[in-house]
Amino acid sequence: MISGFSGAGKGTLVKRLLSSYDSYALSVSMTTRSPREGERDGVEYFFADREQFEKKIREDGFIEYACYCDNYYGTPKDYVEEQLNAGKDVILEIEIQGALKVKQQFPESLLLFVTPPSAVELKRRLLGRGTESQEVIAKRLARAVVESNGIEAYDYVVVNDDLDACVAEIHQLVNAARRAPVRSGAFIRRIREELKELGNEGN
Ligand code: 5GP
Repeated sequence: MISGFSGAGKGTLVKRLLSSYDSYALSVSMTTRSPREGERDGVEYFFADREQFEKKIREDGFIEYACYCDNYYGTPKDYVEEQLNAGKDVILEIEIQGALKVKQQFPESLLLFVTPPSAVELKRRLLGRGTESQEVIAKRLARAVVESNGIEAYDYVVVNDDLDACVAEIHQLVNAARRAPVRSGAFIRRIREELKELGNEGN
């Protein structure tokens, strides 16, 4: 999971990860917020109204969902399960409440928090993007203050200063995380069995 303040550059990072390595698949979320200019339905998000979103909640169609700055955002189950079964590392670009819910369901998931080098730089990027009104920017900056209190729950903090360096660092962290015992269950079980069998042969 990749979280981070609005304006931290998560979207660009994720696009670059997907085009640089073929081991990743991106989960496309559903949201009730309006599309930004250039966003396409089914690519950046599945855009829905509240009624459609709430229907999918009732049908148990989400791995998690959360409310962020007055809109619903949720991770549809089907695609994630399909891609995990295909052996992909599935990227969820989601905010903190959702990330913590997914971590509970999938303890082997990895939580990365992306941040710009400073708060001033964050504001500069949000203003520079030119896609949100002053009011929305103010809400998102206020939300960043709240989110900053949750950073300790993440496995790693990644500072997005230089894009290429940041993409390479995330890929390294993902690969290193694969070696943690929590993600090597199948290997550990196999080698235990093999050792037992070897021990029995010796008797
Ligand atoms: P934005 O409106 O800027 O695209 O996204 C706002 C926030 O919602 C971001 O922090 C983004 O990571 C988060 N978000 C996007 N999709 C999901 C989702 O499916 N679930 C949750 N919990 N958060 C999401």
